[in-house]
Amino acid sequence: MSIKSSNLGYPRIGENREWKKALEAFWAGTLEESNFLQQMEQIRLHHLQKQKEKGIDYIPVGDFTCYDHMLDTAVMFGLVPKRFPYEGGVVPLQTYFAMARGSQEAIACEMTKWFNTNYHYIVPEIGDRTPTLTENKPLLAYREAKEKLGIKGKPVIVGPYTFIKLSKGYVPAQLPALILQLVPLYQQILRELEQEGVEWVQLDEPILVSSLSKEEMETVSYIYKQLHEAAPHLNIMLQTYFDSVEFYPDVINLPVQGIGLDFVHGIGQNLRYLTTCGFPEDKVLGIGVVDGRNIWRSHLPHKWKLLRTITSAVPEDRVWLQPSSSLLHVPVSINQETQLDPLVKEALAFADEKLDEIQVLLNGFRSGENATIEEFTRSQTALSNLAQSPERNRLKVHESVANLGHQHAERQSPFVQRRKKQQQEKKLPLLPTTTIGSFPQTLEVRQARQKWRKGEWTTEFYEEFIQEQIEKWIKIQEEIGLDVFVHGEFERTDMVEFFGEKLAGFTFTKNGWVQSYGSRCVKPPIIYADVEFLEPMTVKESEFAQSLTTKPVKGMITGPVTILNWSFVRDDISRKQVAYQIALALRHEVEALEAAGIQMIQVDEPALREGMPLKKSAWENYLNWAVKAFRLTTSSVQDNTQIHTHMCYCEFHDFIDSIRDLDADVISIETSRSHGELVSSFHEHAYEKEIGLGVYDIHSSRIPSVEEIVSMIERGLQVLEPAQFWINPDCGLKTRGKEETIASLRNMVTATLIVRDRL
Ligand code: GLN
Ligand code: ZN
Repeated sequence: MSIKSSNLGYPRIGENREWKKALEAFWAGTLEESNFLQQMEQIRLHHLQKQKEKGIDYIPVGDFTCYDHMLDTAVMFGLVPKRFPYEGGVVPLQTYFAMARGSQEAIACEMTKWFNTNYHYIVPEIGDRTPTLTENKPLLAYREAKEKLGIKGKPVIVGPYTFIKLSKGYVPAQLPALILQLVPLYQQILRELEQEGVEWVQLDEPILVSSLSKEEMETVSYIYKQLHEAAPHLNIMLQTYFDSVEFYPDVINLPVQGIGLDFVHGIGQNLRYLTTCGFPEDKVLGIGVVDGRNIWRSHLPHKWKLLRTITSAVPEDRVWLQPSSSLLHVPVSINQETQLDPLVKEALAFADEKLDEIQVLLNGFRSGENATIEEFTRSQTALSNLAQSPERNRLKVHESVANLGHQHAERQSPFVQRRKKQQQEKKLPLLPTTTIGSFPQTLEVRQARQKWRKGEWTTEFYEEFIQEQIEKWIKIQEEIGLDVFVHGEFERTDMVEFFGEKLAGFTFTKNGWVQSYGSRCVKPPIIYADVEFLEPMTVKESEFAQSLTTKPVKGMITGPVTILNWSFVRDDISRKQVAYQIALALRHEVEALEAAGIQMIQVDEPALREGMPLKKSAWENYLNWAVKAFRLTTSSVQDNTQIHTHMCYCEFHDFIDSIRDLDADVISIETSRSHGELVSSFHEHAYEKEIGLGVYDIHSSRIPSVEEIVSMIERGLQVLEPAQFWINPDCGLKTRGKEETIASLRNMVTATLIVRDRL
């Protein structure tokens, strides 16, 4: 027996996003249910077959889903919130999708980010119903793979503790009762799998890498003891990923037969554990050596060395080689990328290529290093070609980052002094009204961009079209009576892609889609080289907009941390270094906007919060460099230039001090969903800078009434000074229609006037 290969999960979307297309056709009513289910089956089996052909020993089954794997787990336990019609038994497809997407009668379940990834899961709601086992999904998946393809798969299930921790609808005191309800259901699933003759099951417990308490670890031990007793002959692979485990000695002593660790993201600590605490002789170690989160090819000789180190601590017949996490987070295959620069393409590996890498390493082990020498050399050459490329060796960029001193990140004067100057000069009314940046990207706007991209429209013609849009919306803003305008962002498809296309160091794939939530896929830019400013990116539009009005028009750029967090990032230098490179490039843009007479500049950072590491102990370091990157971008302007920032739909309460450190003169935030709680946290932290209150949710076409906006503003005024407040929608209005946008903003302005009158 020697080392084995395993996979943790495979992307669902399909090489040509056929999964997405089938789903959307089904929702639109153009694909009937039986056909839809048939297509889903085809895609599922195709993916399994592919993994089989690649020679993977332990192929995951049950990781496939028609929407989201957490939602699958919740409905398997019959956890359908009471607002959806449901009479028990297997949850019907209609109900399943209603939970995911909402229906006429009931709002959708909440959706949130899966750990520190860009994948969003549906948050299970506990409390409405007692969990019951409606069907054994992992068992069905196992049978299907066995009967149809002869694959004896490894069922994948979200582990009980991760499931509970990521659910909502209970208070901590109810946790023990909840565990008592759920554990028997897991036991039953495992017992049935055992009876079926399943060899291994993978229980995903990524929660074990987050900052848990000792008490929580004890709960985990209790749960796994129960599971083991229920199915003593079934092998459980307890799978962790995204970082190193907390409580390693406890984890390796759980009564399971295998432990999966991440040797990419948690490599330092996990290796230290392994070499200092050892690894039990009766367990299998799943080693995640190929990065399941990023798109770079593995440096195989380095991985080989790592493998050697690990196999000196654990005998190779007890080792499984695997990706560091599910491959859900990377695109399917590099095959279709015909337009990429070969320098970059050679250095990439998507899901399929990652599985190939695992096989190469495995073959090296089975047949000796010489058998794979070609592949080893190829990976090394590809990566070193990229490393030595002029694009990764822009000395000026390296020097600027290396020479970063403290003085580069400070505004000229402290906020209080800047504020005086800004007030004197700008003479804004109390509670100034504004918007977050984008106005509706209508079909007309999107089609225009397509025509220009295809070459049907000249750049000149397209730019004229954009100018017309800007002109139209400046007039609309005048009519509505807003105080601070925006140009509308009509020239941008996506707030990161737009800047990526104009900065050096970025490249774009044709088909590098990854699932973001449900059928929605994103194609993140790739930061493959040193980032450098080439020429002004937003000045033309901002300057034009400003020339049309006497009201201030905010310049509008995406911040360095958001650009970083929403891209695939090179991994040869630290994220901090890349963030600083982007920041220094954007700093030129900010300066160019200022030089062009733009007096307010908004630097959006909606993704700053989500880049927070999983472990609390790593927060400080992240926040230090993230804040510094923002300040590098914004600090070189004059005192009277007002820096705005914007963040939305995230937890604010535990990082208000870092928000203060950004030293932005104004921050606009979403508050309509958090019902004022948020405002209180700013108050509790004695936040002294200006805050734009999001007074209505922009996610629906509903027009908020004047009265509700008035009460929203008044609620805010109970805690914070009127002189601190701005009034704005929660976020950009890109996805909204024109008429509803105008009507909503009119109500927002009317409401503000009413409140101003009362002050
Ligand atoms: N300025 C951007 C817009 O209005 C901000 C978007 C965001 O926060 N996600 O579209
Ligand atoms: Zn936003």
